[in-house]
Amino acid sequence: MKVLITGGAGFIGSHLCDFLIKKGNYVICMDNLITGKKDNIKHLLKNKHFKFIKHDVAEHIRLKEKVNYVLHFASPASPIDYLKYPIKTLKVGSLGTHNALGVAKKCKAKFLLASTSEVYGDPLVNPQPESYWGNVNCTGPRGVYDEAKRFAEAITLAYHRTHGINTKIVRIFNTYGPRMRKHDGRVIPAFIDQALNNKPITVYGDGLQTRSFCYVSDMINGIYKLMNSRFNDPVNIGNPNEMTVLELAKRIIKLTRSKSKVIYKPLPADDPKVRKPDIAKAKVELKWQPEINLQTGLTKTIGWFSD
Ligand code: NAD
Ligand code: UDP
Repeated sequence: MKVLITGGAGFIGSHLCDFLIKKGNYVICMDNLITGKKDNIKHLLKNKHFKFIKHDVAEHIRLKEKVNYVLHFASPASPIDYLKYPIKTLKVGSLGTHNALGVAKKCKAKFLLASTSEVYGDPLVNPQPESYWGNVNCTGPRGVYDEAKRFAEAITLAYHRTHGINTKIVRIFNTYGPRMRKHDGRVIPAFIDQALNNKPITVYGDGLQTRSFCYVSDMINGIYKLMNSRFNDPVNIGNPNEMTVLELAKRIIKLTRSKSKVIYKPLPADDPKVRKPDIAKAKVELKWQPEINLQTGLTKTIGWFSD
């Protein structure tokens, strides 16, 4: 299969490039490197089953070859990134998704959208099933990401219904692992970097807000199963092991044997108070569930950050 991965030089996208090449596919990685790094794919640059194209997918995409699958992962994903690039985030989620769907339509290819648990906003239901419509502040600072992804889901299903494209939507919950940027602002790389350098661990708010963290290899397996399924409705992929941010800080301090102490900083606007995926659908429809526990995943990630 020939596959186009937008955002393929990012954290999840680069793992997907590796995985799909290993499965025998030809991968075209398209990325403008706004939050990704060429370093993430440098080991693939000489592979004859891999091609990198530097391009902003919010601009028209002109592909010379036909692809069988379009995986649309391009978008800033860390809160500090999308707060820094609010308009680019809105454009890649809207115009970028439209362009990526256009490629799928022209090539009669399948299409998978990387959506997010942020479509549920600050959820009033916990855990979140796919049937929950969400609680999003469309004019708040996080709205640029949440609404772009909600639009992206809407246009993806519109292309499915109108043009008969075989589309998939994965709602990705907090994912972590090697290749995250040390300073991308997301909680796991931030805490690991602080702990390894014996610096204060910056917990936002009272640290009692919850998240559920999925190791990247589990995420890639779930995405692959969804890619090959007959399913067109959105599917949650994530690890339902919910914990507070404060508990996470303590786990990371212990695992790194750090001298760091927790300090408290203001909670960012609209920071969700709870987040936990209901993965019943993925279990039944995809026969998928996460296998890597937090201890193992964090140990691998800490090892990578220490190198
Ligand atoms: P990332 O920032 O590492 O990767 C995103 C990639 O997209 C980067 O390489 C970036 O340069 C590229 N990109 C952004 N705008 C682009 C544009 N206009 N044109 C071309 N390339 C562009 O983030 P990630 O964590 O790997 O996230 C990948 C995808 O998964 C995103 O769509 C994100 O919304 C989604 N997601 C991730 C998580 C998570 O926990 N990591 C959670 C929910 C959803
Ligand atoms: N967080 C924190 N300290 C940090 C970075 C993040 O306490 O240095 C908190 C943040 O407020 C949120 C949670 O950790 O409640 C997860 O944040 P992240 O940016 O990783 O992703 P989110 O799930 O909010 O999209």
